[in-house]
Amino acid sequence: EPFPIILSGSVQRGFGRGGKDLGCPTANLPDESLPPMSSVTQTGVYYGFAQVTPSNDGQSTPLTSQDTLVHPMVMSLGWNPFYKNKQLTAEIHVMHDFRKDFYGHEMKAIVLGYIRPELDYVSREALIEDIETDKRVALNCLTRPAYEKFKQHTIFTGHP
Ligand code: ADP
Ligand code: MG
Repeated sequence: EPFPIILSGSVQRGFGRGGKDLGCPTANLPDESLPPMSSVTQTGVYYGFAQVTPSNDGQSTPLTSQDTLVHPMVMSLGWNPFYKNKQLTAEIHVMHDFRKDFYGHEMKAIVLGYIRPELDYVSREALIEDIETDKRVALNCLTRPAYEKFKQHTIFTGHP
C-alpha cells in the first residue's frame, strides 16, 4: 500500500474551472508538491485529511481557529490539459466551511485512500451528484478507528 501519502504546498490559483459554481471549490497544490503522488499516478478521486495553516507573507486573508483544524478532504488527481496532459494536478476540497478564500496559505494533506477513477458526465447535475457521493464515501471511510492517528500526525501538529 502506498498510503499514507503526505503532500504540502502553498495554495495556488487554478484556472477557475468552476469549482465554486459546482459548490465544490478545490484548492490547487503547486506542481513541486506532487512528487509524493508518483507512487500512485492513478487519476481520480482520493480521500484523506487536510489542514490549512497561515503563511507568514502577510498578504493572504486571515484564517479563523476553526479554519486551521485538521478536516476531512477529497482530492482530485488528474492530468492537466493546460500542459498537454503531461503534468499531474492535485486539487483538494476541504470538508469545512471557510468563509473566505485562502490562496497563498499553506496546505498540508495526508492521502489515505482511493475512491474512484475520473469519469465523464452527461450533465452538470450528474457531476454534482457524484461529488456529493465522493464526500459521503470519504467521510464514511475516515470513520475507521485506524485513521484516527493520522489527525495527530507530525505534519499537522508540528511535533513528533
Ligand atoms: P481555482 O480554480 O482558483 O482553484 P476554485 O473555484 O476551485 O478556483 O476555488 C478554490 C479556492 O477556493 C481555494 O484555493 C480556496 O482559496 C477557496 N476555498 C474556499 N473554501 C474551500 C474549501 N472548502 N475547500 C477548498 N478550497 C476552498
Ligand atoms: Mg480549484
